[in-house]
Amino acid sequence: MAFRYIEEIPSPQGIKTLLPLSEHCKEIKKQRDELIRQVITGETDKFLVIIGPCSADREDAVLDYISRLAPLQEKLADKLVIIPRIYTNKPRTTGEGYKGMVHQPDPEKAPNLLEGLKAIRKMHIHSIEQTGLTAADEMLYPENWAYIDDILSYVAVGARSVEDQQHRLVTSGFDIPVGMKNPTSGDLSVMMNSLYASQHPHTFMYRNWEVRSDGNPLTHTILRGYTNKHGSNVPNYHYEDLMLLLEMYQKREYTYPACIVDANHSNSNKHYEQQIRIVKEVLHNRQENDEIRKLVKGVMIESYIECGSQKVDEHIYGKSITDPCLGWEESERLLYEIAERV
Ligand code: PEP
Ligand code: MN
Repeated sequence: MAFRYIEEIPSPQGIKTLLPLSEHCKEIKKQRDELIRQVITGETDKFLVIIGPCSADREDAVLDYISRLAPLQEKLADKLVIIPRIYTNKPRTTGEGYKGMVHQPDPEKAPNLLEGLKAIRKMHIHSIEQTGLTAADEMLYPENWAYIDDILSYVAVGARSVEDQQHRLVTSGFDIPVGMKNPTSGDLSVMMNSLYASQHPHTFMYRNWEVRSDGNPLTHTILRGYTNKHGSNVPNYHYEDLMLLLEMYQKREYTYPACIVDANHSNSNKHYEQQIRIVKEVLHNRQENDEIRKLVKGVMIESYIECGSQKVDEHIYGKSITDPCLGWEESERLLYEIAERV
């Protein structure tokens, strides 16, 4: 056998019974889901800001960070819908490095998937209980989705997963918005095919069941920049890129043309501080062109308590151990500026 079986993982229902979501939290999620749905469908002009660390590496700092977002969500509620990033599954380009809390509840200790699943469910629940905000996470492993499908308000399919059929089929059965990122190669038709697949019904195998999905009308696109054949980063948040995306939306029938601009990754070339300028440029283009204003429903920002990033063994509280992030003061200022410009 090519791999060894280490430990049998309980069913999603087993873990949910062990770590249930309270009725109060279920009500919060219901209300937030409805609000976020209205942004995607265009029933409200409010603007989504999906913001938080690249990876949720430790619960205390993540909850501290989201507790700072919560009062801003209240103050800016007539303009913004803030969705914290609690990213517990990290795709790695070469397979090396920290793969997220689901693998390693402690980033410096050996992987433990069962403890990881429990740790991420706990962190998501504690965050809703303490802040009233439901979160976004990346779906890296479709089979893990069932462990947190009652908790999240937003799911991203990453640049390395967007071409995968199982991601497309599984998200076609979700009742929350799913953002399909452009692939690392930048070919927008891959993202559009993924969008189309996710918006339509399918019959397929999920875990140990044959299932039927209805198609997800809330699946939309995320522009995150790309890498060209020379390995250089190329941004795709400019006016012309958004016009091109609009054209692609017109070529086939989709539900609601909707796009989120991810200001970090290959758009900033990981110069995290550039996210401020990138977000402002996107907001400017929304003001210039009404079609772009309707298309761009929000932005994604990588932000944490401390700016930049560190190595795992540096132990600086609230500083990213994966992609470099904007620090808290700049992030707070930027949120006020976004609210003024939408
Ligand atoms: C992320 O959002 O941290 C991420 C890994 O994104 P992408 O899939 O765009 O690289
Ligand atoms: Mn990242």
